[in-house]
Amino acid sequence: MKTIFEKDKSLHSKPLFKGEIEFNKRTSPLNLPDMSELEVMRHFKELSDRNFCVEKGFYPLGSCTMKYNPRVNEQVTRDENFLNLHPLQSDTDSQGALEIMYDLEQMLKIITGMDAITLQPCAGAHGEFCAMSIVKKYFLQKNDLKRKKVIIPDNAHGTNPMSAKMNGFDCIEVKSDVSGGVDIKELENIINTYGDEIAAIMMTNPNTLGLYDENILKISDLMHKNGSLLYYDGANLNAVMGHTNPRLMGFDIVHLNLHKTFSTPHGGGGPGAGPVGVVEKLKDYLPTPTIEFDGEKYFRNYNKPYSIGKVSTYYGNFSVLVKAYTYILMMAKDLKNASTDAVLCANYIKEKLKKYYKLPYNRACMHEFVLSGDLQKEKGVSTLQIAKRLMDSNCHPPTVYFPLIVHEAMMIEPTESESKEVLDNFINIMIEIAKEVDSDPESFENYPSKTPVSKADETLAARHLNVKYEFNN
Ligand SMILES: *Cc1c(COP(=O)(O)O)cnc(C)c1O
Repeated sequence: MKTIFEKDKSLHSKPLFKGEIEFNKRTSPLNLPDMSELEVMRHFKELSDRNFCVEKGFYPLGSCTMKYNPRVNEQVTRDENFLNLHPLQSDTDSQGALEIMYDLEQMLKIITGMDAITLQPCAGAHGEFCAMSIVKKYFLQKNDLKRKKVIIPDNAHGTNPMSAKMNGFDCIEVKSDVSGGVDIKELENIINTYGDEIAAIMMTNPNTLGLYDENILKISDLMHKNGSLLYYDGANLNAVMGHTNPRLMGFDIVHLNLHKTFSTPHGGGGPGAGPVGVVEKLKDYLPTPTIEFDGEKYFRNYNKPYSIGKVSTYYGNFSVLVKAYTYILMMAKDLKNASTDAVLCANYIKEKLKKYYKLPYNRACMHEFVLSGDLQKEKGVSTLQIAKRLMDSNCHPPTVYFPLIVHEAMMIEPTESESKEVLDNFINIMIEIAKEVDSDPESFENYPSKTPVSKADETLAARHLNVKYEFNN
């Protein structure tokens, strides 16, 4: 603190109080723009108009589940009884909030088939980290200290190996087979080679290719026979809600992305919620406090001797929990239909586009699918250029260049929120683009041309991001 302010003596003033606080007071007035409320409103409106969001156009960003976020979620979250509640208030003061968290846990137990849930983690990646800490603690508690390896498929989200690594595990990659699932032969080889050194496998099912691993029961059998655990990355839960659940697939521990599956706005990195669910034998390791009900009142239980400890300040992102709770209550049995429709929409687009773009895994997909831009690349147009071209047609581009095992990948996830007209419009634009690649590949140098900022230098923006406003002194 001190050193930062010491650099610029002009920021110092006479001490307000004795001690370091003096370093925080400036001596000259801050040169802020002098504006009316109306001008400020116009400024922020203009900034928001520059943004793209799901309310403005189709947003098929694969793996991100950019579904519609019902406004009623926001309305409920902004109830002043929630807004004015402080997390340090007593259990007695907080019965309503605790009840919501407790009930949300019960709902997520039903949806995932797990025996206990923590709502604390604040993102999917944070849930992964928490889950792998639990895996570590479980083996430590069993005095099974050899299990230091985690198996991860080659199409996994990058956060998976990181979450394992940050908990001290070494990662072993298992390849996908021609149908896009885990290569069983290779998995067996890995198990034969490393045996009781393997703590867990981290899987996403359906995986990031949008494909359901049909060998999942065989995989869970192999892993359990080896004394290892199965971890489920639940970011793709929108494909299977109400149809199956990770418990039925044989998983022991899962994380969910409430901000994806259960409709919370999550562009730009937050806030999110990444609850973790576990089977009975892992229950004692969940973070403290757990939310419990003694038949009369709800309370926070800190008395958990085997817990991995706290993973968030307070109890996580409460407002995200309320949004997910509202959404689940509102949807009830229709959650199953949401998954059905998400899968139907993805398959509809896939079938219409596979004549125009390479489809590396030509089988029924789940809620998303991956195309390859290889054919277009051969004609001089990259997937990145196709993505930029889509922006001119008021479509957010799909996720590109991921998963890494598909060249020129385009990962398309329409979600259940869109009408057939919207899907048809996207299909037509994609077909038009494929034709433009044939007739006029050079034109792709010019996109996007209709966005507020046309061609950004992405490397510069990523490495030297500058969002500072320069005051005229
Ligand atoms: C989004 C995602 C994550 C990470 O979730 P965050 O909330 O962004 O941290 C992990 N795995 C998969 C498959 C995802 O799609």
